Amino acid sequence: MVVSVFELFSIGIGPSSSHTVGPMRAARRFVEQLQEEGKLDLVGSLTIELFGSLAMTGHGHATDIALLLGLEGSAPEEIDPENVESCIANITETGFIKLLSRKQIPFSKEKDLLFLKGKRLAFHSNAMRFKALDVRKRELMTEVFYSVGGGFIVRHDEIYQSANPSTDHHLPYPFKTAKELLAHCIREDKSIWDIVMANELIWRQEDEIRRGILRIWNVMQACVTRGCLQEGILPGGLNVKRRAAGLYRSLTLQGDLHNDPSQILDWISLFALAVNEENAVGGRVVTAPTNGASGVIPAVLHYYMKFTSKPSEEGIIRFFLTATAIGILYKEGASLSAAEMGCQGEVGVACSMAAAGLAAALGATTLQIENAAEIGMEHNLGLTCDPVGGLVQIPCIERNTMGAIKAVNACRLAMHGDGDHRVSLDEVIIAMRHTGEDMKSLYKETSSGGLAAHVSVAITEC
Ligand code: SF4
Repeated sequence: MVVSVFELFSIGIGPSSSHTVGPMRAARRFVEQLQEEGKLDLVGSLTIELFGSLAMTGHGHATDIALLLGLEGSAPEEIDPENVESCIANITETGFIKLLSRKQIPFSKEKDLLFLKGKRLAFHSNAMRFKALDVRKRELMTEVFYSVGGGFIVRHDEIYQSANPSTDHHLPYPFKTAKELLAHCIREDKSIWDIVMANELIWRQEDEIRRGILRIWNVMQACVTRGCLQEGILPGGLNVKRRAAGLYRSLTLQGDLHNDPSQILDWISLFALAVNEENAVGGRVVTAPTNGASGVIPAVLHYYMKFTSKPSEEGIIRFFLTATAIGILYKEGASLSAAEMGCQGEVGVACSMAAAGLAAALGATTLQIENAAEIGMEHNLGLTCDPVGGLVQIPCIERNTMGAIKAVNACRLAMHGDGDHRVSLDEVIIAMRHTGEDMKSLYKETSSGGLAAHVSVAITEC
């Protein structure tokens, strides 16, 4: 499996990487495939069936909106969140959609977009079946896509390709486990970020990689800034109040940390709240490595810049490259999908990546970095996914504050040690995978267990 820093950290829109970003990419890819095969102009109608977790929580995660935008040719990294509402209103009011902004066909959200609750396809819970017919109702193309977490998608016929080791033979330093990664570091006398940078060089020049990483960091900063200014109630009907702006005002007024050093915790929470509130309104966020967990890494990076002694641009680059290595290990050894792993796969992985990234930025040794990543996951094992009302709000927004603070603590614990530790990162990843596999589907992004089943909800709008 070949994964770049720019796939693990992609610029997109909220609220979900698996339920918004992935479906948008799948819909666009389906219509692009129709175009490549010369069938786009023949399409008379098109239907989409959603299965598993996408059917259960797709409404709350804006999957329907993402699919329509993808059919029209939008990509998560390009779309302006400000235009989404008018695009969808136009389709709903006219009853027509323009595939790839070119081929107009009738489309009804009620009849042509089906949430098949209770049905699941075998390979993955997040499945979508697209079917295009011509005007005489003859089948032109049918494809099944899976949204496998973090915005990554797989077409049904590609399922086994990612398991083929020959696909990554061209990387200078291929690795699937922490043991393999550490072996490269020791043999080559390189840091984890050096290894990832060397692999990234197969796609891009170093200055382009550095610029791209700094651009991602800029988008994260802009997201925090926006989130700190917005007041009001989040959409969806749960009546969740935005808290970042009020907390920002209060922290700014309090000023001096000497009176209350634990204010640092409030700042970390603020950064995460700001991002996840923006994510909840469908704003511009960086998938890191998912949207539900998109606040953890920006919060820890802001902590690094604001509260550590010598923050630097080089530290930011090392943070992202190291976090990428850790994200790859989870993608290889477990999954980033809450539908497979529960919230271990989202906030748990983000916490582990952030802990390692921060340790790298602060000058930790390779073993301390591995230890930080391990601690970051060890104390997220068993974390369930139970979003109330199917919305990425409760517990998701606060959970990012917890993930960020835990990441800082994991980094500090690791850096107080000498790198020698009892539980390896590989062991904790295996434990996470088995825990996820043993978890009932109630707790894996179906909104039918945990908080989702026990918090009373009177949704007034959807
Ligand atoms: S509970 Fe965790 S995994 Fe589930 S939607 Fe929220 S952030 Fe994502």
